[in-house]
Amino acid sequence: MQDSHANPEEFDLYALGALDGQEMQAFEAHVPGCPACRKELAAAKQRVLRLGLAAPAVAPRPQVKSALMEKVKAERAAAGARAVQVKPKKKRWGLRFSLGFAIATAALAFATFELAKMDWERGKQIKNLQAELDAAQTKAKLDAQAMEAMASVTAAPDSAMITLLQQAGGPPGQAHVMYNARMGLAVYSGQIAPAPADKSYQLWLVPASGSPVNAGMVGANQENGAVVVRLTPGLVAKAFAVTMEPAGGMPQPTGPKVLVGAASI
Ligand SMILES: [Zn+2]
Repeated sequence: MQDSHANPEEFDLYALGALDGQEMQAFEAHVPGCPACRKELAAAKQRVLRLGLAAPAVAPRPQVKSALMEKVKAERAAAGARAVQVKPKKKRWGLRFSLGFAIATAALAFATFELAKMDWERGKQIKNLQAELDAAQTKAKLDAQAMEAMASVTAAPDSAMITLLQQAGGPPGQAHVMYNARMGLAVYSGQIAPAPADKSYQLWLVPASGSPVNAGMVGANQENGAVVVRLTPGLVAKAFAVTMEPAGGMPQPTGPKVLVGAASI
């Protein structure tokens, strides 16, 4: 059953939170890996949102309606059973009253829960979209800045291209740094085998004299997304190096050299 598509009404039931047991297991086993079913589920969620927001405008499918009714009946039965157990010696009208109260409470709780879930789902969707948009805008801005810096460094006749090569026993990789000392600009691009989760790659400018200068963190894959580094103008580089440091980086290199390239100026 895991390999066959979900039944049409199951999407609505799932979106309503009304699918359970084996059906739910089969549904969750199949749908995430099936583009067609994922699309159906997204549509069902939209349907459910519309139901929650404008109940009279959209009529639920009959199967969904009856399944929901069954669920409400089950809630009623459970609530009723509890009420009878707790108060077995009540007078008949009293028992009826508490039963009715329990039914109303259960139905209200169920409706509130479903509405809250829809609202939460909708809020999450909007939040996700907003975050995606923000990230895309930030990336576009950074890309534009990087392109501009890259263009000006590339165009300058006094820029140097330094090739950084992997070190014996270290992770495989290669990178390039385009450096202009006068402008204080370095453009890094390259690729290194991913670092362990608790480690980061950090770029250093090694000056002719003195300690290495922090040139910021670089990702394992910066092949198609160069990193623009702004340094103090006038720094003469003897070399550039990438080291593996504790996640987030260090003020001075502490880890092994991963890539090294000497500047030939
Ligand atoms: Zn499918």
